[in-house]
Amino acid sequence: MFLHEHCISGPIQSRRLGTSLGVNLLPCTHKICNYNCVYCECGLNRPDEEEIRSLPTPQQIEAALDERLRALKAEGRPLHSITFSGNGEPTLHPQFETIMDIVCALRQRHTPHTPVSVISNASRLGLPEIRRAIGRADKRILKLDAGTPGLYGRINGLRLADPTLPIGEVAGRRETPTAAEITAAYTQLIENLHGLPYPFTLQTLFFRGRAGGAPIDNTTGDELAAYIRQVLYVQPADLMIYGLDRETPEKELQKLTEAELADLAHRLRAAGTPPVQYYY
Ligand code: SF4
Repeated sequence: MFLHEHCISGPIQSRRLGTSLGVNLLPCTHKICNYNCVYCECGLNRPDEEEIRSLPTPQQIEAALDERLRALKAEGRPLHSITFSGNGEPTLHPQFETIMDIVCALRQRHTPHTPVSVISNASRLGLPEIRRAIGRADKRILKLDAGTPGLYGRINGLRLADPTLPIGEVAGRRETPTAAEITAAYTQLIENLHGLPYPFTLQTLFFRGRAGGAPIDNTTGDELAAYIRQVLYVQPADLMIYGLDRETPEKELQKLTEAELADLAHRLRAAGTPPVQYYY
């Protein structure tokens, strides 16, 4: 299991973003997310998770990021991205919009050529304050792992029927959404991506294996065809596809080979998708 130990971490060398300084708006001891993806490197959501008390405040983020950016500037180290990622879904932080403004202002002061990136599961894009906040970032990297609601439900492990609920409703709560609720959440996700008024990158983790005792695979056949249809509908600026990189909570998932990822990228391009980059 991989957890960020601070609200500002790194910089690390990211496969996708280069030298990246992480902004973690979730607790440092456990993940909080409205999804529970079978491959999540942060592990599964804990039943005893705590939420609001252990979230960093905007003031803490501001002080820690200011200090880190000053130090990096003094060292002359290049920085390719300041990235909202961390131990769960960053848009769950109740002051996400305020913190976005703080991060953008500090970026402007210390390293104006470094983009601010947000990695999000896109589940809360229906909320106006989330759309506003991510609109102020330079890069929006939004998740879509499946072309059908059924596979979406299995891969992403939607925890609550309504993924737009605030963090206080997410942490520590258990629901098993019905198939109809998963379909509704998936349909809303697709429509939110389709209607997003900013360019964005769609990110997809491709893998196969077994989860929950049954085969799971988003790389082939009808599922891949459905995924391509959704990509053509939501029209991202580009696509990032990648394979597993760290330990996963489901132990029977298989990492694709580099040749398989390259072949998938080739098939997506041949189907007329926006530009595709793959990351092994
Ligand atoms: S959306 Fe991200 S943080 Fe949430 S469960 Fe999935 S991989 Fe983990």
